[in-house]
Amino acid sequence: MTGKDPKEKKSARKTGPGESPAAARKSKAPAAPAKKSEVPAAPAKKAPKKAPKKAAEAGSSSRAALFSWGGVPGEELERLPLAAALDRYRDEYLLANDTMLRDHTHVKIGGRALHFATATTVEILQNILMNAADDADMPLCVMGGGSKILFDDSGFAGLVLRLGGGAFSSVMPLEEDGVPLVAVGAHALLGRLVKYAEERNHAGFSDFVGIPATVGGAIAMNAGAMGSSISERVEEVTVMDLEGKVLTFGKPELRFGYRSFSLANPPRSGFPGSLGKERKKRVHFPPDGIVIGAKLNLGAKATRREIEKIREKNLKFRRDNQPKLPSLGSTFKNPPGGKSAGELLDLCGLKGLRFGGAEISPVHANFIVNLGNAGSSDVLGLIWSAKKEVMKKFGIDLEPEIVAFNKWGERHVF
Ligand SMILES: Cc1cc2nc3c(=O)[nH]c(=O)nc-3n(C[C@H](O)[C@H](O)[C@H](O)COP(=O)(O)OP(=O)(O)OC[C@H]3O[C@@H](n4cnc5c(N)ncnc54)[C@H](O)[C@@H]3O)c2cc1C
Repeated sequence: MTGKDPKEKKSARKTGPGESPAAARKSKAPAAPAKKSEVPAAPAKKAPKKAPKKAAEAGSSSRAALFSWGGVPGEELERLPLAAALDRYRDEYLLANDTMLRDHTHVKIGGRALHFATATTVEILQNILMNAADDADMPLCVMGGGSKILFDDSGFAGLVLRLGGGAFSSVMPLEEDGVPLVAVGAHALLGRLVKYAEERNHAGFSDFVGIPATVGGAIAMNAGAMGSSISERVEEVTVMDLEGKVLTFGKPELRFGYRSFSLANPPRSGFPGSLGKERKKRVHFPPDGIVIGAKLNLGAKATRREIEKIREKNLKFRRDNQPKLPSLGSTFKNPPGGKSAGELLDLCGLKGLRFGGAEISPVHANFIVNLGNAGSSDVLGLIWSAKKEVMKKFGIDLEPEIVAFNKWGERHVF
């Protein structure tokens, strides 16, 4: 694990998604924090000095943006109670009030978010999280591309937070010991990475073509398709905890399961596990931190022809087997052994079942689609009905893959 200490801001080396440990070692600047160190982000005292929008505008093609996670953590923004910070740092947080969540989710469902913030630099993200950690009441949800999240029709009575811009959206080539790697910000789109790899004659991501995810969301859910999962491509993951600590974990320190990601030994403090019971209920903060970036392996080389073939096959599979209407992807995880969730639902005759504006897709029974005016309760109703039917017929308790919240930030347990 590698950590980053904002207290050492005079000498600390700025590292980013584009910087390899090797590059950091070669640098004349003081070395990056040593492996196995872990250092907290200090609250800062100064008023904001720079406009964070500039970092976002620097864009993913800017090397400067890639080599910096956005500045020395905690240096610029004062730690405040969250409500006061949301007020003071509206511009820095790119804060919007009354944002309709349906405009930010693939399934096009979700009412107003009381606050909707986009963190464009590490220090802004740190500031938001440190302030949020101090706030006993404000529900908090971290989202990526919103392809797997079902928000409530009555909205979200707290802060919905996502990453965006600058280093968080960057894709940067690296090479270590002849291994073709990329350093990627968590907000980069998975589709962009697929394209990036294919353009360089690597097919390592081609199985993921058509998954509408960010890299952070894909790692958090260990997204996969066609028998591959993103975990096979991950060399290193950088996360931020609730106290704003930035920690990097290598492959042996990561645990991936079927649509799940965790740290082998999560630090005791700074992660949601350390929160009080009541607070934990309302903070939908991924248990092992917000993924802010990763080092990924592009995989073996392939010819243009081979890549085209894989890509076409995978796209055709999606065209033929997945509905085109807005959805949340697979509703349920496949149960171990035997039939897939889709087959079980199909055998129960559930294709075409409707609740309000939501339908179990006639194309694929494991997809619930929005016919145009679906509400969250329509989707939840279908989930419960489908679970009940499968339990009755097969004695199997299907586990939902989707992530659903009520207005108060509490996760639905199915
Ligand atoms: C049409 C369609 C097809 C799909 N096909 C597939 C498929 O083939 N395979 C597959 O695996 N999935 C598929 N999905 C589901 C979805 O794309 C994946 O689950 C994806 O990993 C979610 O990424 P996201 O960025 O949209 O995350 P979100 O939906 O925004 O969030 C999902 C979860 O990840 C957490 N999260 C998001 N960003 C971060 C972060 N930076 N750090 C930590 N946690 C984070 C959120 O808190 C939430 O719990 C499909 C979805 C749709 C709509």
